[in-house]
Amino acid sequence: MKILRRGSIAAAGLLLLAASVAPAGAAQDDNDRMLYEARGTDSAQRTAIARSGADIWGTSDGVTTFSASAALAKSLQAKGIDVERVGDVEDLLAARNPDMATSADEFPAGDEGYHTYGELTEVLQRADSEHGDIASLSSAGSSYQGRALHLMKISDNVAQDEDEPEVLFTCNQHAREHLTTEMCLRIVERFTDEYGTDPTVTELVNTREIYVIPSVNPDGSEYDIEGGRYKGWRKNRQGYYGTDLNRNWGYKWGCCGGSSGSPYSDTYRGTSAFSAPETRAVASFVESRVVGGSQQIKAHIDFHTYSELVLWPYGYTYSDTTDTMSREEARRFQEVGRKLAASNGYTPQQSSDLYITDGSVNDWMWAEHGILSLTFEMYPASGGGIGGFYPPDERIEPETRRNDEAVDILLTEAGAQP
Ligand SMILES: [Zn+2]
Repeated sequence: MKILRRGSIAAAGLLLLAASVAPAGAAQDDNDRMLYEARGTDSAQRTAIARSGADIWGTSDGVTTFSASAALAKSLQAKGIDVERVGDVEDLLAARNPDMATSADEFPAGDEGYHTYGELTEVLQRADSEHGDIASLSSAGSSYQGRALHLMKISDNVAQDEDEPEVLFTCNQHAREHLTTEMCLRIVERFTDEYGTDPTVTELVNTREIYVIPSVNPDGSEYDIEGGRYKGWRKNRQGYYGTDLNRNWGYKWGCCGGSSGSPYSDTYRGTSAFSAPETRAVASFVESRVVGGSQQIKAHIDFHTYSELVLWPYGYTYSDTTDTMSREEARRFQEVGRKLAASNGYTPQQSSDLYITDGSVNDWMWAEHGILSLTFEMYPASGGGIGGFYPPDERIEPETRRNDEAVDILLTEAGAQP
């Protein structure tokens, strides 16, 4: 959707002012933020990179792209990791921002096909009013800055809590991963607009309760485009440096060197498990779906960018099985993960095969609620520098459509006995 706005002279003036006084960005050493590639990495090396405090952007075919200070990169080189400098992050961002947005709260010129929070809100409200019999818009709670965490329920007899398997889709935990918001929007639009015409959609809406949270981190994503320039921002906007929402979930929080205790780090886990209002709100919603002692949500995908991967738990340990992941359960994750990946051409693997993470959403969803919870890392497979987070808006339609079948597979799996 493209919303045209006519910029007034006053607005243009404000925009210039905003650009000139905008803070340089996140970390203390932002001016020293460089982009690097490490080749031929294995998961132990990638974990070493993550533990160093570097910000890993993507991994494909053993090439890991990450941002870090020059000093940090040097220390990784000293550990025998083959690190090559790509460029200065601020320069790469500037190159990706050729024009200012036509409006202060719009995506940069040329990328207006992406939805701002305001546009997202309008689309969801319209779906709710035009499809009131199958779509119901509410909120899972509020972000740190008070934005509603939109929650869309789609099902036949939507006002009733029917005895049907429930499935949750969440997007945009990480601010700069704007393509994921579009993914959740496509799910909403497809399962409302195509109801009654597409037989698969109709069947799934009739037999499932579908929940979609298109932006878990609206403060961060609005900040990332504020002033009409991308900032490469990942975290929420709690405090000056923000918290990495996908290291703030309450299972094995901070256990295993898969997150950072430093507020300057892009993987800062927060002051305690669920210290971020956004993770707390989504967790409370999931907890509210325990009915008669039984969790109603059977399956979940959390969408991220990029690397084109399907990931399953656990992230906190290299082990395939634990006291909360039996051999049979691990096998089911592997089977479903591979089936999903076969449908969209992504690479399937256990999350920790990438590198160790702790406090991630998938680990909590599975360990605490037995939800078949996976992460999709969307397009592109490999980065092209900062461009990995900012594909042109022409990619929205093909790259979200690419996951239609995977979404249908997961919805179907939710009805299968584990
Ligand atoms: Zn992410």
